[in-house]
Amino acid sequence: MKIIKTANKITLELLNKKKIGFIPTMGCLHDGHVSLIRKSKKKKLLTIVSIFVNPFQFNNKKDYKKYPKTILTDLKICKKNKVDYVYLPQEKDIYPEKKIIIKNKIHYFRKFMEGKFRPGHFEGVIEVVKRLLSRIKTNYLFLGKKDYQQLIIIKKYLESIDSKIKVIPCDTIRAKNGVALSSRNKLLDQKSLNVAGEIINFLKQNKNQIIKSKNNSFFLSKIKEFGAKKIDYLSAFNLKQLKKTNKPSLNTRVFIAYHLNGIRLIDNF
Ligand code: AMP
Repeated sequence: MKIIKTANKITLELLNKKKIGFIPTMGCLHDGHVSLIRKSKKKKLLTIVSIFVNPFQFNNKKDYKKYPKTILTDLKICKKNKVDYVYLPQEKDIYPEKKIIIKNKIHYFRKFMEGKFRPGHFEGVIEVVKRLLSRIKTNYLFLGKKDYQQLIIIKKYLESIDSKIKVIPCDTIRAKNGVALSSRNKLLDQKSLNVAGEIINFLKQNKNQIIKSKNNSFFLSKIKEFGAKKIDYLSAFNLKQLKKTNKPSLNTRVFIAYHLNGIRLIDNF
């Protein structure tokens, strides 16, 4: 496994390389990330993982500062899973300019959920994806359904620039109690993780009622009873139409963002 820290070097290393699989991450790797790596390896792709906490996708400085970092463990995980290259850039390598101006035309789906509650978030995500993909000329891009809205927005962005990169959506990996694995879970104690498990299991059991209900107040108050201080949204979307819906269907997913002990969690099912 090679660890590469600069744009020039990674571009040079990958020159003339074929069948590349790329997994962009913000580090603090867990079995969710590993499932993406394994998918790439299974396809026999030259597997590149990037680890970079992108400041421009955080609308909250505190959240950026406390984002967990476990770089040594991350590298061990990558090595164990036979990653070929880890791209580990400093901020300057991704953003060499003195003044960063972010202007991206992004699909209107950004206006909902994460885009609504985290202004500028998807603009920052697309910016970093753009910059990473200019360095790593990949054939396949592995993205998790844990961040489903992000997955769709990146896919739409790639379509809009006629990119040939194939996006591979990967299922959400969960802990035994049902909680979606997330780097932010590291910031929660066991009690909060148990509460998160209760919330997700309750929501899954009531999926169709949540979708059909025009007013979610019953479910919102239930989630609060479990211990969530604040709920940003609990919404059902039809993923074909990219519209809110009240109709259960194979294309309908429920999305939630809520706060537990000062940590914001998202999930969908
Ligand atoms: P992150 O490091 O949180 O930016 O995530 C990097 C990639 O891993 C993204 O494509 C995420 O959607 C994906 N990912 C994060 N958590 C999970 C999970 N529990 N299961 C599957 N994929 C995940």
